[in-house]
Amino acid sequence: MALIVHKYGGTSMGSTERIRNVAKRVAKWARAGHQMVVVPSAMSGETNRLLGLAKELAPPKPGDDHNRELDMLASTGEQASSALLAIALQAEGMQAVSYAGWQVQVKTDSAFTKARIESIDDERVRADLDAGKVVVVTGFQGVDDAGNITTLGRGGSDTSAVAIAAAMKAHECLIYTDVDGVYTTDPRVEPDARRLTTVSFEEMLEMASLGSKVLQIRSVEFAGKYQVPLRVLSSFTPWDIDIQEEARSGTLITFEEDENMEQAVVSGIAFNRDEAKISVLGVPDKPGIAYHILGAIADANIEVDVIIQNLSKDGRTDFSFTVHRNDYAKAVDLLKAKVLPTLGAADIVGDTKICKVSIVGIGMRSHVGVASKMFRVLSEEGINIQMISTSEIKTSVVIDEKYMELAVRALHKAFDLDQPAA
Ligand code: ADP
Ligand code: ASP
Ligand code: MG
Repeated sequence: MALIVHKYGGTSMGSTERIRNVAKRVAKWARAGHQMVVVPSAMSGETNRLLGLAKELAPPKPGDDHNRELDMLASTGEQASSALLAIALQAEGMQAVSYAGWQVQVKTDSAFTKARIESIDDERVRADLDAGKVVVVTGFQGVDDAGNITTLGRGGSDTSAVAIAAAMKAHECLIYTDVDGVYTTDPRVEPDARRLTTVSFEEMLEMASLGSKVLQIRSVEFAGKYQVPLRVLSSFTPWDIDIQEEARSGTLITFEEDENMEQAVVSGIAFNRDEAKISVLGVPDKPGIAYHILGAIADANIEVDVIIQNLSKDGRTDFSFTVHRNDYAKAVDLLKAKVLPTLGAADIVGDTKICKVSIVGIGMRSHVGVASKMFRVLSEEGINIQMISTSEIKTSVVIDEKYMELAVRALHKAFDLDQPAA
Protein backbone atom coordinates (compact mmCIF):
# COMPACT_ATOMS: atom_id res chain seq x y z
CA MET A 1 0.00 0.00 0.00
CA ALA A 2 1.40 3.35 -0.99
CA LEU A 3 0.41 6.96 -0.57
CA ILE A 4 -0.23 8.39 -4.03
CA VAL A 5 -1.11 11.94 -5.08
CA HIS A 6 -3.14 12.45 -8.26
CA LYS A 7 -3.56 15.88 -9.85
CA TYR A 8 -6.23 16.50 -12.49
CA GLY A 9 -6.08 19.59 -14.71
CA GLY A 10 -8.95 21.77 -15.84
CA THR A 11 -9.81 19.87 -19.01
CA SER A 12 -9.74 16.59 -17.10
CA MET A 13 -12.29 18.12 -14.69
CA GLY A 14 -14.14 19.92 -17.49
CA SER A 15 -17.66 18.42 -17.13
CA THR A 16 -19.64 16.31 -14.71
CA GLU A 17 -19.02 13.38 -17.05
CA ARG A 18 -15.26 13.91 -16.81
CA ILE A 19 -15.42 14.39 -13.05
CA ARG A 20 -17.25 11.08 -12.84
CA ASN A 21 -14.45 9.47 -14.82
CA VAL A 22 -11.85 10.97 -12.52
CA ALA A 23 -13.78 9.58 -9.54
CA LYS A 24 -13.89 6.12 -11.10
CA ARG A 25 -10.15 6.21 -11.80
CA VAL A 26 -9.32 7.38 -8.28
CA ALA A 27 -11.65 4.73 -6.83
CA LYS A 28 -9.79 2.10 -8.85
CA TRP A 29 -6.50 3.21 -7.28
CA ALA A 30 -7.99 3.31 -3.79
CA ARG A 31 -9.53 -0.14 -4.21
CA ALA A 32 -6.12 -1.43 -5.28
CA GLY A 33 -5.05 -0.58 -1.73
CA HIS A 34 -3.49 2.86 -2.12
CA GLN A 35 -4.01 5.84 0.12
CA MET A 36 -5.19 8.57 -2.24
CA VAL A 37 -4.88 12.34 -2.09
CA VAL A 38 -6.38 14.05 -5.13
CA VAL A 39 -5.70 17.63 -6.18
CA PRO A 40 -8.07 19.01 -8.84
CA SER A 41 -7.89 22.21 -10.84
CA ALA A 42 -10.95 24.33 -11.49
CA MET A 43 -13.16 23.10 -14.33
CA SER A 44 -11.65 24.29 -17.62
CA GLY A 45 -12.40 27.90 -18.44
CA GLU A 46 -13.59 28.67 -14.93
CA THR A 47 -10.51 30.58 -13.74
CA ASN A 48 -10.56 32.68 -16.91
CA ARG A 49 -14.28 33.28 -16.52
CA LEU A 50 -13.89 34.49 -12.94
CA LEU A 51 -10.92 36.72 -13.69
CA GLY A 52 -12.80 38.06 -16.73
CA LEU A 53 -15.67 39.18 -14.50
CA ALA A 54 -13.21 41.12 -12.35
CA LYS A 55 -11.71 42.73 -15.43
CA GLU A 56 -15.15 43.87 -16.54
CA LEU A 57 -15.70 45.62 -13.24
CA ALA A 58 -12.20 47.07 -12.98
CA PRO A 59 -10.11 47.15 -16.17
CA PRO A 60 -6.46 46.96 -15.02
CA LYS A 61 -4.94 50.42 -14.50
CA PRO A 62 -1.43 51.27 -13.32
CA GLY A 63 -1.47 51.69 -9.57
CA ASP A 64 -4.61 49.60 -9.03
CA ASP A 65 -4.22 46.52 -6.91
CA HIS A 66 -7.12 44.13 -6.56
CA ASN A 67 -4.90 41.12 -6.06
CA ARG A 68 -6.23 40.05 -2.69
CA GLU A 69 -9.76 40.00 -4.03
CA LEU A 70 -8.68 38.29 -7.26
CA ASP A 71 -7.34 35.42 -5.15
CA MET A 72 -10.50 35.31 -3.10
CA LEU A 73 -12.37 35.06 -6.40
CA ALA A 74 -10.21 32.71 -8.44
CA SER A 75 -9.78 30.22 -5.59
CA THR A 76 -13.50 29.45 -5.73
CA GLY A 77 -13.01 27.55 -8.99
CA GLU A 78 -10.95 24.90 -7.23
CA GLN A 79 -13.24 24.84 -4.23
CA ALA A 80 -16.18 23.96 -6.48
CA SER A 81 -14.35 21.29 -8.45
CA SER A 82 -12.98 19.70 -5.26
CA ALA A 83 -16.41 19.45 -3.69
CA LEU A 84 -17.84 18.02 -6.93
CA LEU A 85 -15.10 15.41 -7.05
CA ALA A 86 -15.70 14.38 -3.44
CA ILE A 87 -19.42 14.04 -4.22
CA ALA A 88 -18.63 11.97 -7.32
CA LEU A 89 -16.34 9.74 -5.24
CA GLN A 90 -19.06 9.25 -2.65
CA ALA A 91 -21.46 8.38 -5.46
CA GLU A 92 -18.94 5.69 -6.46
CA GLY A 93 -19.28 4.24 -2.99
CA MET A 94 -16.03 5.70 -1.62
CA GLN A 95 -15.58 7.60 1.61
CA ALA A 96 -14.28 10.96 0.52
CA VAL A 97 -13.79 14.43 1.96
CA SER A 98 -12.69 17.68 0.32
CA TYR A 99 -10.70 20.53 1.83
CA ALA A 100 -9.83 24.05 0.77
CA GLY A 101 -6.19 25.14 1.12
CA TRP A 102 -6.85 27.06 4.34
CA GLN A 103 -8.44 24.01 5.96
CA VAL A 104 -5.50 21.73 5.35
CA GLN A 105 -3.29 24.66 5.99
CA VAL A 106 -1.32 25.04 2.84
CA LYS A 107 0.60 28.03 4.21
CA THR A 108 1.93 30.55 1.71
CA ASP A 109 3.50 33.97 1.72
CA SER A 110 1.24 36.95 1.04
CA ALA A 111 2.20 37.58 -2.59
CA PHE A 112 -1.38 37.53 -3.89
CA THR A 113 -1.81 35.97 -7.36
CA LYS A 114 1.69 34.47 -7.20
CA ALA A 115 2.08 33.18 -3.66
CA ARG A 116 4.71 30.63 -2.72
CA ILE A 117 3.99 27.65 -0.51
CA GLU A 118 5.92 27.81 2.77
CA SER A 119 4.61 24.80 4.65
CA ILE A 120 1.84 22.24 4.69
CA ASP A 121 0.29 20.83 7.82
CA ASP A 122 -0.87 17.41 6.72
CA GLU A 123 -2.22 16.17 10.06
CA ARG A 124 -5.86 16.38 9.06
CA VAL A 125 -5.24 14.68 5.73
CA ARG A 126 -3.31 11.85 7.36
CA ALA A 127 -6.04 11.24 9.89
CA ASP A 128 -8.61 10.96 7.08
CA LEU A 129 -6.41 8.65 5.06
CA ASP A 130 -5.90 6.46 8.09
CA ALA A 131 -9.67 6.38 8.51
CA GLY A 132 -9.93 4.99 4.98
CA LYS A 133 -11.04 8.14 3.18
CA VAL A 134 -9.97 9.54 -0.15
CA VAL A 135 -8.89 13.13 0.50
CA VAL A 136 -9.47 15.83 -2.08
CA VAL A 137 -7.45 19.03 -1.58
CA THR A 138 -7.99 22.12 -3.73
CA GLY A 139 -5.22 22.95 -6.15
CA PHE A 140 -3.91 26.46 -6.77
CA GLN A 141 -4.67 27.99 -3.39
CA GLY A 142 -3.34 28.47 0.10
CA VAL A 143 -3.61 30.79 3.06
CA ASP A 144 -1.18 33.36 4.42
CA ASP A 145 -0.31 34.02 8.07
CA ALA A 146 -3.03 36.64 8.33
CA GLY A 147 -5.66 34.17 7.14
CA ASN A 148 -6.06 35.61 3.64
CA ILE A 149 -6.71 33.22 0.78
CA THR A 150 -3.87 33.25 -1.74
CA THR A 151 -3.32 31.65 -5.14
CA LEU A 152 -0.13 30.26 -6.61
CA GLY A 153 -0.12 31.71 -10.12
CA ARG A 154 -1.64 30.26 -13.29
CA GLY A 155 -1.11 26.55 -13.57
CA GLY A 156 -0.51 26.44 -9.82
CA SER A 157 -2.42 23.24 -9.13
CA ASP A 158 0.63 21.30 -10.34
CA THR A 159 2.60 22.95 -7.56
CA SER A 160 -0.08 22.24 -4.96
CA ALA A 161 0.01 18.56 -5.87
CA VAL A 162 3.79 18.23 -5.81
CA ALA A 163 4.05 20.21 -2.57
CA ILE A 164 1.48 17.97 -0.91
CA ALA A 165 3.29 14.89 -2.23
CA ALA A 166 6.55 16.28 -0.82
CA ALA A 167 5.06 17.14 2.56
CA MET A 168 3.43 13.73 2.87
CA LYS A 169 6.41 11.84 1.44
CA ALA A 170 4.12 10.29 -1.14
CA HIS A 171 5.32 7.35 -3.14
CA GLU A 172 4.55 9.19 -6.40
CA CYS A 173 2.79 12.26 -7.72
CA LEU A 174 0.85 11.65 -10.92
CA ILE A 175 -0.10 14.71 -12.98
CA TYR A 176 -3.09 13.76 -15.15
CA THR A 177 -3.67 16.10 -18.06
CA ASP A 178 -5.08 16.36 -21.58
CA VAL A 179 -1.92 15.04 -23.29
CA ASP A 180 -0.38 11.66 -22.56
CA GLY A 181 2.96 12.99 -21.33
CA VAL A 182 5.72 15.49 -21.95
CA TYR A 183 6.46 15.87 -25.65
CA THR A 184 9.48 17.08 -27.58
CA THR A 185 7.46 20.25 -28.06
CA ASP A 186 3.82 21.30 -27.66
CA PRO A 187 1.94 18.77 -29.80
CA ARG A 188 -0.61 21.47 -30.60
CA VAL A 189 2.05 23.39 -32.52
CA GLU A 190 4.00 20.46 -33.99
CA PRO A 191 1.83 17.42 -34.71
CA ASP A 192 5.00 15.34 -35.24
CA ALA A 193 6.12 15.96 -31.65
CA ARG A 194 6.99 12.73 -29.83
CA ARG A 195 6.24 11.76 -26.28
CA LEU A 196 9.32 11.32 -24.10
CA THR A 197 9.15 8.27 -21.86
CA THR A 198 11.55 9.97 -19.47
CA VAL A 199 12.86 13.49 -19.19
CA SER A 200 15.56 14.62 -16.80
CA PHE A 201 14.59 16.92 -14.01
CA GLU A 202 16.97 19.60 -15.29
CA GLU A 203 15.51 19.52 -18.79
CA MET A 204 11.98 19.64 -17.42
CA LEU A 205 12.93 22.62 -15.28
CA GLU A 206 14.28 24.46 -18.33
CA MET A 207 11.33 23.52 -20.50
CA ALA A 208 8.85 24.68 -17.87
CA SER A 209 10.71 27.93 -17.28
CA LEU A 210 10.94 28.57 -21.02
CA GLY A 211 7.23 28.25 -21.59
CA SER A 212 6.14 24.58 -21.80
CA LYS A 213 3.08 24.98 -19.66
CA VAL A 214 2.53 21.24 -19.26
CA LEU A 215 3.98 21.68 -15.74
CA GLN A 216 4.15 24.88 -13.73
CA ILE A 217 7.83 25.62 -13.09
CA ARG A 218 7.44 25.75 -9.33
CA SER A 219 6.08 22.23 -9.30
CA VAL A 220 9.27 21.04 -10.99
CA GLU A 221 11.37 23.01 -8.51
CA PHE A 222 9.52 21.36 -5.63
CA ALA A 223 9.94 17.94 -7.16
CA GLY A 224 13.67 18.55 -7.45
CA LYS A 225 14.11 19.94 -3.98
CA TYR A 226 12.24 17.11 -2.28
CA GLN A 227 12.96 14.39 -4.86
CA VAL A 228 9.29 13.71 -5.46
CA PRO A 229 8.79 11.02 -8.11
CA LEU A 230 6.72 12.81 -10.74
CA ARG A 231 4.89 11.49 -13.79
CA VAL A 232 2.79 13.28 -16.41
CA LEU A 233 0.07 11.15 -17.99
CA SER A 234 -3.30 11.26 -19.70
CA SER A 235 -6.64 11.46 -17.94
CA PHE A 236 -8.32 10.50 -21.22
CA THR A 237 -7.41 6.82 -21.20
CA PRO A 238 -10.36 4.60 -20.22
CA TRP A 239 -10.62 4.82 -16.44
CA ASP A 240 -10.60 1.03 -16.10
CA ILE A 241 -7.32 0.34 -17.92
CA ASP A 242 -4.97 -1.96 -16.06
CA ILE A 243 -3.52 -0.05 -13.14
CA GLN A 244 0.01 -1.36 -13.71
CA GLU A 245 -0.12 -0.25 -17.32
CA GLU A 246 -1.43 3.14 -16.25
CA ALA A 247 1.32 3.48 -13.63
CA ARG A 248 3.96 3.00 -16.33
CA SER A 249 2.39 5.29 -18.93
CA GLY A 250 3.17 8.92 -19.72
CA THR A 251 6.47 10.61 -18.95
CA LEU A 252 8.57 10.08 -15.85
CA ILE A 253 10.70 12.99 -14.63
CA THR A 254 14.01 11.42 -13.63
CA PHE A 255 16.64 12.70 -11.24
CA GLU A 256 19.55 10.59 -12.32
CA GLU A 257 21.06 10.50 -15.75
CA ASP A 258 21.38 6.87 -16.64
CA GLU A 259 22.17 5.06 -19.83
CA ASN A 260 18.52 4.24 -20.45
CA MET A 261 17.68 7.87 -20.89
CA GLU A 262 17.06 9.16 -24.34
CA GLN A 263 20.39 10.59 -25.37
CA ALA A 264 19.41 13.27 -27.83
CA VAL A 265 21.54 16.40 -27.91
CA VAL A 266 18.38 18.46 -27.98
CA SER A 267 15.47 16.90 -26.08
CA GLY A 268 12.82 19.52 -26.52
CA ILE A 269 11.74 22.86 -27.88
CA ALA A 270 9.91 25.38 -25.76
CA PHE A 271 8.38 28.69 -26.73
CA ASN A 272 6.57 31.50 -25.12
CA ARG A 273 4.58 34.47 -26.32
CA ASP A 274 4.33 36.08 -22.92
CA GLU A 275 7.18 38.52 -23.22
CA ALA A 276 7.67 41.99 -24.67
CA LYS A 277 10.87 43.74 -25.65
CA ILE A 278 11.91 47.18 -24.49
CA SER A 279 14.86 49.09 -25.93
CA VAL A 280 16.34 52.17 -24.35
CA LEU A 281 18.07 53.99 -27.20
CA GLY A 282 21.12 56.20 -27.12
CA VAL A 283 22.20 55.74 -23.54
CA PRO A 284 25.67 56.97 -22.60
CA ASP A 285 28.07 54.00 -22.54
CA LYS A 286 29.51 54.33 -19.04
CA PRO A 287 29.60 52.29 -15.82
CA GLY A 288 26.31 51.96 -13.94
CA ILE A 289 23.95 52.10 -16.93
CA ALA A 290 22.59 48.56 -16.61
CA TYR A 291 22.09 49.12 -12.92
CA HIS A 292 20.37 52.44 -13.51
CA ILE A 293 17.88 50.98 -15.97
CA LEU A 294 17.29 47.54 -14.53
CA GLY A 295 17.48 48.72 -10.92
CA ALA A 296 14.42 50.89 -11.52
CA ILE A 297 12.66 47.93 -13.12
CA ALA A 298 13.55 45.61 -10.26
CA ASP A 299 12.41 48.15 -7.67
CA ALA A 300 9.00 48.04 -9.33
CA ASN A 301 8.99 44.25 -8.84
CA ILE A 302 9.17 43.55 -12.57
CA GLU A 303 11.14 40.53 -13.67
CA VAL A 304 13.56 40.88 -16.56
CA ASP A 305 14.46 37.97 -18.78
CA VAL A 306 16.74 38.33 -21.82
CA ILE A 307 19.12 41.31 -21.79
CA ILE A 308 21.28 42.66 -24.58
CA GLN A 309 23.54 45.69 -24.78
CA ASN A 310 24.85 46.77 -28.13
CA LEU A 311 28.30 47.97 -29.05
CA SER A 312 28.75 51.63 -28.36
CA LYS A 313 29.06 54.14 -31.17
CA ASP A 314 30.14 57.70 -30.39
CA GLY A 315 29.93 56.90 -26.66
CA ARG A 316 26.24 55.93 -26.88
CA THR A 317 24.62 52.54 -26.98
CA ASP A 318 21.21 50.80 -27.07
CA PHE A 319 20.10 48.63 -24.20
CA SER A 320 17.30 46.07 -24.70
CA PHE A 321 15.59 43.58 -22.45
CA THR A 322 12.38 41.59 -22.20
CA VAL A 323 9.71 41.62 -19.50
CA HIS A 324 6.41 39.80 -19.13
CA ARG A 325 3.75 41.33 -21.40
CA ASN A 326 1.59 42.08 -18.38
CA ASP A 327 4.38 44.29 -17.03
CA TYR A 328 5.18 45.97 -20.34
CA ALA A 329 3.08 49.13 -20.00
CA LYS A 330 4.16 49.63 -16.41
CA ALA A 331 7.83 49.21 -17.34
CA VAL A 332 7.64 51.68 -20.26
CA ASP A 333 5.82 54.29 -18.16
CA LEU A 334 8.35 53.92 -15.43
CA LEU A 335 11.34 54.24 -17.74
CA LYS A 336 9.86 57.30 -19.41
CA ALA A 337 9.18 58.97 -16.09
CA LYS A 338 12.28 58.03 -14.15
CA VAL A 339 15.05 56.78 -16.36
CA LEU A 340 14.94 58.78 -19.61
CA PRO A 341 15.34 62.18 -17.95
CA THR A 342 18.06 61.23 -15.48
CA LEU A 343 20.01 59.10 -17.92
CA GLY A 344 19.89 61.39 -20.89
CA ALA A 345 18.74 58.52 -23.10
CA ALA A 346 17.33 59.40 -26.48
CA ASP A 347 14.16 57.34 -26.52
CA ILE A 348 12.38 54.16 -25.56
CA VAL A 349 10.86 51.80 -28.08
CA GLY A 350 8.96 48.63 -27.38
CA ASP A 351 7.73 45.59 -29.21
CA THR A 352 5.02 43.35 -27.82
CA LYS A 353 4.87 41.13 -30.88
CA ILE A 354 7.84 38.97 -30.09
CA CYS A 355 8.27 35.42 -28.89
CA LYS A 356 11.07 33.38 -27.41
CA VAL A 357 11.92 30.00 -28.86
CA SER A 358 14.35 27.75 -27.00
CA ILE A 359 16.09 24.45 -27.59
CA VAL A 360 16.77 22.41 -24.46
CA GLY A 361 18.93 19.36 -23.83
CA ILE A 362 21.50 18.09 -21.35
CA GLY A 363 23.39 16.75 -24.38
CA MET A 364 24.25 20.38 -25.23
CA ARG A 365 26.81 20.31 -22.43
CA SER A 366 29.02 17.95 -24.32
CA HIS A 367 28.33 18.99 -27.91
CA VAL A 368 29.61 22.05 -29.71
CA GLY A 369 27.86 23.67 -32.62
CA VAL A 370 24.32 23.16 -31.36
CA ALA A 371 23.55 26.86 -31.06
CA SER A 372 25.10 27.63 -34.45
CA LYS A 373 22.95 24.93 -36.01
CA MET A 374 19.92 26.60 -34.47
CA PHE A 375 20.94 29.95 -35.98
CA ARG A 376 21.54 28.34 -39.38
CA VAL A 377 18.11 26.70 -39.39
CA LEU A 378 16.45 29.99 -38.54
CA SER A 379 18.42 31.88 -41.19
CA GLU A 380 17.44 29.31 -43.82
CA GLU A 381 13.83 30.08 -42.96
CA GLY A 382 14.53 33.80 -43.29
CA ILE A 383 13.83 34.41 -39.60
CA ASN A 384 15.66 37.33 -38.02
CA ILE A 385 17.05 36.78 -34.54
CA GLN A 386 16.60 39.82 -32.33
CA MET A 387 18.15 38.55 -29.11
CA ILE A 388 20.01 35.46 -27.94
CA SER A 389 20.49 33.97 -24.53
CA THR A 390 22.26 30.76 -23.61
CA SER A 391 22.96 28.59 -20.62
CA GLU A 392 24.61 25.21 -20.26
CA ILE A 393 21.63 23.23 -21.47
CA LYS A 394 19.58 25.69 -23.52
CA THR A 395 19.76 28.33 -26.22
CA SER A 396 16.93 30.83 -26.58
CA VAL A 397 16.25 33.33 -29.32
CA VAL A 398 13.81 36.20 -29.42
CA ILE A 399 12.12 36.51 -32.82
CA ASP A 400 9.07 38.09 -34.41
CA GLU A 401 5.97 36.41 -33.02
CA LYS A 402 4.59 35.68 -36.48
CA TYR A 403 7.42 33.22 -37.16
CA MET A 404 6.99 31.23 -33.97
CA GLU A 405 5.33 28.14 -35.38
CA LEU A 406 7.63 28.11 -38.40
CA ALA A 407 10.67 28.31 -36.14
CA VAL A 408 9.45 25.57 -33.80
CA ARG A 409 8.67 23.19 -36.66
CA ALA A 410 11.91 23.86 -38.53
CA LEU A 411 14.00 23.32 -35.39
CA HIS A 412 12.01 20.23 -34.42
CA LYS A 413 12.84 18.67 -37.75
CA ALA A 414 16.45 19.85 -37.93
CA PHE A 415 17.25 18.33 -34.54
CA ASP A 416 15.53 15.04 -35.53
CA LEU A 417 13.02 15.31 -32.74
CA ASP A 418 10.39 13.74 -34.97
CA GLN A 419 12.54 10.59 -35.16
CA PRO A 420 12.38 7.85 -32.53
CA ALA A 421 15.32 8.13 -30.09
CA ALA A 422 18.26 5.84 -30.91
P1 ADP B 1 -3.88 21.07 -17.26
O1 ADP B 1 -5.16 21.81 -17.37
O2 ADP B 1 -4.07 19.59 -17.22
O3 ADP B 1 -2.99 21.58 -16.17
P2 ADP B 1 -2.30 22.51 -19.20
O4 ADP B 1 -3.07 23.14 -20.31
O5 ADP B 1 -1.83 23.38 -18.10
O6 ADP B 1 -3.14 21.29 -18.65
O7 ADP B 1 -1.02 21.73 -19.78
C1 ADP B 1 -1.18 20.76 -20.78
C2 ADP B 1 -0.91 21.40 -22.14
O8 ADP B 1 0.47 21.77 -22.20
C3 ADP B 1 -1.08 20.47 -23.32
O9 ADP B 1 -2.41 20.46 -23.75
C4 ADP B 1 -0.13 21.05 -24.35
O10 ADP B 1 -0.78 21.84 -25.32
C5 ADP B 1 0.79 21.98 -23.55
N1 ADP B 1 2.22 21.72 -23.76
C6 ADP B 1 3.15 22.66 -23.97
N2 ADP B 1 4.34 22.12 -24.14
C7 ADP B 1 4.19 20.78 -24.02
C8 ADP B 1 5.09 19.67 -24.09
N3 ADP B 1 6.40 19.84 -24.32
N4 ADP B 1 4.58 18.44 -23.91
C9 ADP B 1 3.26 18.25 -23.68
N5 ADP B 1 2.37 19.26 -23.61
C10 ADP B 1 2.82 20.52 -23.77
N1 ASP C 1 -7.16 26.95 -12.20
C1 ASP C 1 -5.85 27.56 -12.19
C2 ASP C 1 -5.52 28.09 -13.58
O1 ASP C 1 -6.33 27.99 -14.47
C3 ASP C 1 -4.79 26.63 -11.68
C4 ASP C 1 -4.54 25.39 -12.50
O2 ASP C 1 -5.36 25.01 -13.34
O3 ASP C 1 -3.48 24.78 -12.30
O4 ASP C 1 -4.46 28.63 -13.77
MG1 MG D 1 -1.68 23.18 -16.07
